[in-house]
Amino acid sequence: MHLLVLDDEVQLGTFVADVATGAGWTAETAAHKADFRSQLFRRLPDAVILDLHLGETDGISEMRFLAQCQFRGPIGLMSGFDQRVLSSAKQIGGSLGLDVVEVLEKPIRVATLRGVLAVFEQLLAGKPAAGPLQVGAPGKPAANLTSAELDGALRSNEMELYYQPIVAADTLKVSHVEALIRWNHPRCGLIFPGAFMPLAEANQKIIDRLTDWVLSAAAAHVRTLRQLRVPVPVAVNISAANLRSVEYPDHIESILGPGLEPGSILFEVTESVATRNPLAADILTRLRLKGFELSIDDFGTGYSSLEALRRIPFSNIKVDQTFVADLAWSKDSLAIVNSVVALARSMQLASIAEGVETLDVARQLIDLGIDHLQGYHYSRPIPFGQLVPWLQERSTAP
Ligand code: C2E
Ligand code: CA
Ligand code: CA
Repeated sequence: MHLLVLDDEVQLGTFVADVATGAGWTAETAAHKADFRSQLFRRLPDAVILDLHLGETDGISEMRFLAQCQFRGPIGLMSGFDQRVLSSAKQIGGSLGLDVVEVLEKPIRVATLRGVLAVFEQLLAGKPAAGPLQVGAPGKPAANLTSAELDGALRSNEMELYYQPIVAADTLKVSHVEALIRWNHPRCGLIFPGAFMPLAEANQKIIDRLTDWVLSAAAAHVRTLRQLRVPVPVAVNISAANLRSVEYPDHIESILGPGLEPGSILFEVTESVATRNPLAADILTRLRLKGFELSIDDFGTGYSSLEALRRIPFSNIKVDQTFVADLAWSKDSLAIVNSVVALARSMQLASIAEGVETLDVARQLIDLGIDHLQGYHYSRPIPFGQLVPWLQERSTAP
């Protein structure tokens, strides 16, 4: 049986893997999200043990990733936090449809770990062998993606931009749309960015090429929307890895081409840019000076949200969807969203909630004073060809 362990403390990951090997398993460890995701696809584990508290990300987001890939094996969670944290993480795993069978409070003893592995073995003995991970639409085979293949895809038009509308809370009219990349893989079908962005971001040339491709495709779509008389600004995601030169804003302008006013394109970057990258503040300030709006994405999930807000002149805050998703049942998430909305207001920034899936959550957010809403409740991300009639219908609706 094969175990994959994710822990940013390398020694601890190795310890867990050693105990597993001693118990007759094969085991691999990953110290980062990108490692974890690529190992997951390279060799499908029977079971996974995740540390909840990781430097760059957290175990919950990796649980979401496992759920997205329809991972079916047993999962163990470990954390130095108290049982309360572990048990709510376990609940979240359950609500995602995952089989979180054990929670392990650190420090972890060899005997406890052996017990957990024995439980895994029992569970796995009764199950049929796991099918491949789903990286695209359900039912499609998994891909063994390589960076060479990704590079080829960028040159051969296998990428496509989908668009998800964002509506103003007061009028429910579309304020802008977010461009989200998809890969139409010739063998595997539609592949979502969660399965290939880590691969792209690990290679400077590829992430630069990918973002260039997104920028020029989005610019072409902006022009078409204007011609069709449904002009709407497009938000493009920029990766932290793209921000390496102070000339980057000029590069962006040259890719967008002439005749596009800055108001028709805006940018989203995650808060991690602020801490990891000394040039980011410089580059992003120049982008703002050119007149582009800038959103801080996944706000509240990292360690540096407030630091990022202080250092970088953002114009919008996007409240991370994990808080929004939990709003209906979690008082803590409610308190957090409430204070982020207040923070945005007092800094004169617009607040955007992403991941709005139900009318109840939308109403709650509107009551809290959110400015914009985005999520499946309004529309899933759709291909450009469907966006045009969607916008035309709404602009003529009474
Ligand atoms: P993100 O920027 O936070 O984008 C929002 C993600 O949430 C999208 O996933 C979207 O499909 C999903 N989503 C939207 N509404 C809902 C909802 O109501 N419920 C749930 N459960 N999910 C919702 P997607 O398209 O799979 O993209 C994942 C991430 O990949 C994005 O997260 C972004 O970080 C990255 N990404 C996507 N396109 C690009 C791109 O062109 N460039 C870069 N650098 N990153 C991209
Ligand atoms: Ca985004
Ligand atoms: Ca986000």
